[in-house]
Amino acid sequence: SCFADMLHDHDRNEKYYKGIRAAVSRIKARGERVVVLDIGTGTGLLSMMAVTAGADFCYAVEVFKPMAEAAQSIVKKNNFSDKIKIINKHSSDVTVGPDGDMQEQANLLITELFDTELIGEGALPSYEHAHQHLVKAGCEAVPHRATVYAQLVESELLWRWAKLQPVEVEGARLVPPPAVGRCPGAHSVCDIQLSQVSPTSFTPLSPLCTMFSVDFSKPVSSAFQSHSTSFVAQSGGRAQVVLSWWDLDMDPSGTIVCSMAPSWMYPHPTMAPWRDHWMQSVYFLPVETQVAEQEELSLTVCHDDYSLWYSLQSHSLQDVRDKTPQSRPSCTCQAHLVWNRPRFGELNDRQRTASYIAALRSILAEDRVCLSVSDGSLLPVFAHMLGAKKVFSLENSRMSKQVIEEVLEANSVKGGVELLEIRPEQLTSQDLGGEQISVLLGEPYFSTSLLPWHSLFFWYCRTALAGLLRPDATILPCSASLHVVAVEFQDLWRIRAACGTCEGFDVSPMDEMVQRSLDFRESREAEPHPLWEYPCRALTQSAAVMTFDFTQCVPEQPISSRGSLPFIRIGRCHGVALWMEYHLTDDVTVSGGLTQPISEQGTCEWSRHRKQGVYFLRSAWDSSGDGGAAVSYSFTFEPSLGDIKMDFSITDQ
Ligand code: SAH
Repeated sequence: SCFADMLHDHDRNEKYYKGIRAAVSRIKARGERVVVLDIGTGTGLLSMMAVTAGADFCYAVEVFKPMAEAAQSIVKKNNFSDKIKIINKHSSDVTVGPDGDMQEQANLLITELFDTELIGEGALPSYEHAHQHLVKAGCEAVPHRATVYAQLVESELLWRWAKLQPVEVEGARLVPPPAVGRCPGAHSVCDIQLSQVSPTSFTPLSPLCTMFSVDFSKPVSSAFQSHSTSFVAQSGGRAQVVLSWWDLDMDPSGTIVCSMAPSWMYPHPTMAPWRDHWMQSVYFLPVETQVAEQEELSLTVCHDDYSLWYSLQSHSLQDVRDKTPQSRPSCTCQAHLVWNRPRFGELNDRQRTASYIAALRSILAEDRVCLSVSDGSLLPVFAHMLGAKKVFSLENSRMSKQVIEEVLEANSVKGGVELLEIRPEQLTSQDLGGEQISVLLGEPYFSTSLLPWHSLFFWYCRTALAGLLRPDATILPCSASLHVVAVEFQDLWRIRAACGTCEGFDVSPMDEMVQRSLDFRESREAEPHPLWEYPCRALTQSAAVMTFDFTQCVPEQPISSRGSLPFIRIGRCHGVALWMEYHLTDDVTVSGGLTQPISEQGTCEWSRHRKQGVYFLRSAWDSSGDGGAAVSYSFTFEPSLGDIKMDFSITDQ
């Protein structure tokens, strides 16, 4: 999907092409032959650009075999085989010399080895090696330079993805364990479509700082480095989060710039090119600090060979250097291993918590014995705080058990929940001290779920536990439903659209390769996407297409559902969005999809905590919105597989 999106990224392609033309001209103007090294050639696109621009020969290196094969056939199809040599190796294994992969060192280095964090795909070591062995001193490089930018902000919304916040439970306060508060958090980069995070949801504390640049035409080092930028706080607030992106200067003078700035940095958001292969990064500072307006501060970025991390220094404090960690900080409290960032967001969602508490309150009485089944859930802690007689919780790992234990300890209710690291089908009455379960609870949430309906694992747990439940046991949620709506994507459609030609080059073998891998899957399937990052417009009403009754055990026979959704708005239908809603009680529902009714124009507001399912139609459908055409659907829940098979077609009367 990344490749299709990259080939559709016209802004990127155009700027690479311009940069390559300019570099080839500069070398020719010096009277030299142009010998290109293209590291990570992918489809061969940048090499084909170079030859078209007048390069004499290209060595196109690609480590991934199927990709190297695709490049071979694309280069042949476009009649460049005599000028482009595809080398199926990692660049660090490429040899130069009469018997080597390359006859001579190159004088034009072209690469596109960047990820959202710039260096996370190993660009630095690849450049370092290429400059030592594969290119001549004084070579030209496209891109010529990369620059990393950062802005320090206060953002309640983003901070909720990193730190567990106190929760109000009926007048009592559930506080996070101190170790979680001190922890620097998850090691992995947080890459998101920052354009979808409204500037109203953060307060800039610093100006946009230029953190550092890398000149790719000179030897590059992958060793540890740090760069600091001083600034005066433009507003007082809590320093929590660093927003970051980078740009590429395709030429030395910096006239051809490919920028990753989010759309709100542009005079008009529609001017921003859309891309998914490069987004923006969010870095969470290890702890939040209060900064005053006009305070003099330094923001420091450190990097090793593959990753970046940030720290903030106040000029009024001594030993600034000592505060900069020499390796990327990583989670010390385990909570960031148990809960990923959206999960932190979910646990910190007050409205959602209020729904669970309201539902629990309505079913709990003092004689109730509760059993909770969800990974790393606070639900059993709430049940204890709300006065259940006894609460058990099944944890899927030692780590989640420890984290919940620490939550209990931090709130002086150690032992309030009995945490069992036992699988539901192995749980015995003895494990429950002979108690019969009167309330079975679940959010439900399972860390292994990829698609929304994978949470139906709860139903299987409920079925496995049937023998331990009282006959009148309450199941929370009592049911779940699967919902669908047909949509027009603003941009996400690009990741599945065929490319055909790209900047005049026929890249159709790539389309065929993608199509083959999609067809290879047993049947066409939905794929998970966080739709809050990918705006879409509803072209039909939404509908609940299937309900799963948790008060009963999983049936033996499949459940099927068929129907159709008439198009009620004009637009191009790319596919269908799918999500689950959980009916905690008869009147409390939480949604893993739409969080608001669809607006008149079809605008959809999606939950940020869970990914939704997206089923792309084989070809887009232009809806006239007059109700004549409809999306017909057919769903089958297969109890033996726990999966949902689906099929969609357009019917037009
Ligand atoms: N140059 C193409 C594709 C870029 S994607 C374009 O711009 O359209 C990056 C590609 O580089 C991937 O296919 C990846 O497999 C490959 N790659 C990354 N590092 C590499 C290295 N050091 N040596 C060889 N291939 C590499």
